[in-house]
Amino acid sequence: MKQEGLHSAEFAFEYSAPEELIISLPDAHFKGAVEVNAFVTLDGKDVYADIDLTYVISCACSRCLERAEGKVNHSFSVKFSLYEEEGAYLYKSGKIDLTLCVNEEIIISQPTVIYCKDDCKGLCLICGANLNHGDCGHGNI
Ligand SMILES: [Zn+2]
Ligand SMILES: [Zn+2]
Repeated sequence: MKQEGLHSAEFAFEYSAPEELIISLPDAHFKGAVEVNAFVTLDGKDVYADIDLTYVISCACSRCLERAEGKVNHSFSVKFSLYEEEGAYLYKSGKIDLTLCVNEEIIISQPTVIYCKDDCKGLCLICGANLNHGDCGHGNI
């Protein structure tokens, strides 16, 4: 985006996140695009961005392995600087690139487990039956 002459701007876009960003969930992919809402403020030569991410991951349920979905809302703030600075991202030529920070925050914010439902009963350790579908008689419930 172009920043010249602007003091603040709010914008929203959809980002097709690469699947490699999903780090520990089994058989997982992004369901649809990542929604990014950004409020960007120019302060001197620094740019501050308040960003909201919303995305849905579809994966195998962490208990029963059936399909499950987890929706994530995550807010964060970042600073962009023209100079190397700890905790800030670099920007050049009046443009900031949100890709790097959005990618990092997707990794930080994603859950390590997603269940098909809050009270998923999982699989029987003896026969592997999905206990959501009924009791297999092995004393799991
Ligand atoms: Zn489940
Ligand atoms: Zn069983």
